[in-house]
Amino acid sequence: MSLMNNRSIYLDYNATTPCAKEVVEAMLPFFSDSFGNAASPHEFGTDASAAVEKARDQVASAIGADASEIIFTSGATEANNLALLGLTRGNSKRKGIVSTSIEHKSVLEPLARLLDLGIEVYYLPVNRHGVVNPTDAEKIINEDTAVVTVQGANNEIGTLQPVTEIARIAHKKGALVHCDAVQLLGKVPVSVGDLHADLASFSAHKAYGPKGIGCLFLNRHARRTISPLIHGGSQESGLRPGTVNVPAIVGFGVACDLVKQKVGSDAKRLAEMRDLLESILTEKLSGVSLNGKEVSRLPGTTNISVPGVSAGVLISQVRGVCFSDGSACTSGAVSPSHVLLALELSREMARNTVRLSLGRYNTIDEVEIAAEKLVETIQKLTKKLSIT
Ligand code: PMP
Repeated sequence: MSLMNNRSIYLDYNATTPCAKEVVEAMLPFFSDSFGNAASPHEFGTDASAAVEKARDQVASAIGADASEIIFTSGATEANNLALLGLTRGNSKRKGIVSTSIEHKSVLEPLARLLDLGIEVYYLPVNRHGVVNPTDAEKIINEDTAVVTVQGANNEIGTLQPVTEIARIAHKKGALVHCDAVQLLGKVPVSVGDLHADLASFSAHKAYGPKGIGCLFLNRHARRTISPLIHGGSQESGLRPGTVNVPAIVGFGVACDLVKQKVGSDAKRLAEMRDLLESILTEKLSGVSLNGKEVSRLPGTTNISVPGVSAGVLISQVRGVCFSDGSACTSGAVSPSHVLLALELSREMARNTVRLSLGRYNTIDEVEIAAEKLVETIQKLTKKLSIT
């Protein structure tokens, strides 16, 4: 993870983060000593269920919610599916959905299934900086809109969306508001109240917690409408049946506690390191462009287009630095990122774009070394290009 242990420099924190040491320590007893099923009516069960409820408090507190509003899921993909498919199943009167063109696949794919079923889905465009205009939302949201779903921050370019403004518009028309808030947690302070969201999805592994655990926040208005997607026992108020993953939930809780303590200082450091990285790259390389830089964005995300150099080649040629093209979930796909195309980048430029995302355990030294390696490799690749 860092140079200290001779590993590559990790600049892909938007894809996933390492578990904090405190998270792993807190989880360990729940694999063996305190292994009970949280639904069991004896000491092992009550120990496990007390740990789950403590974690629910910790998660709720980190996002400004009440513990009763948290449903644990296997991650944000499931939380997004539960929100969108569950609300549509549960709402017999309103059928329309409004979203944006730059959502994560875990929002776009359930919406595509709903479209197949005859549900009307409208995708708001973004401007060339990657931000939705609330005026567009105002024109589209109407009395038939069941849900408006807008991400908090984009995973590829880091732009922050005007969720609060759009939520106010949606609420005036009586629609519920869902926010995929995955990329906000751990990077900037999050309050579901300030977002005015009725539902919001979170994932532990983006915020120094374990993989395979996340949650859906939902308030009482959303709870009245939503239906579960899977059926079984009464765990998680029947909205997400199945034996709960106690160690992962405990880890998520501790990760959220740490986020609460550290998010202010983490955000400041990330912005400083990101600015340093971007200043080295733009000073030493001509023709590169930074996507999303002109607007409010996450502190640790840099999205950079390098004319003539494909993301795949750059990733393989820069030795000892790990970063990604587009989002990790679409990496490997041949088509260029839908987010970059929505910014009206050409297909070629979208293919020549990489994401560098910083996190809590990066150091200034690492950023400087990574920037120099990128500069050196890009200069070499572009020189080769002008010779051939
Ligand atoms: N939404 C966004 C914006 C994401 O970045 C991700 C993870 N790439 C997800 C949803 C899915 O989260 P999970 O990995 O917990 O399913």
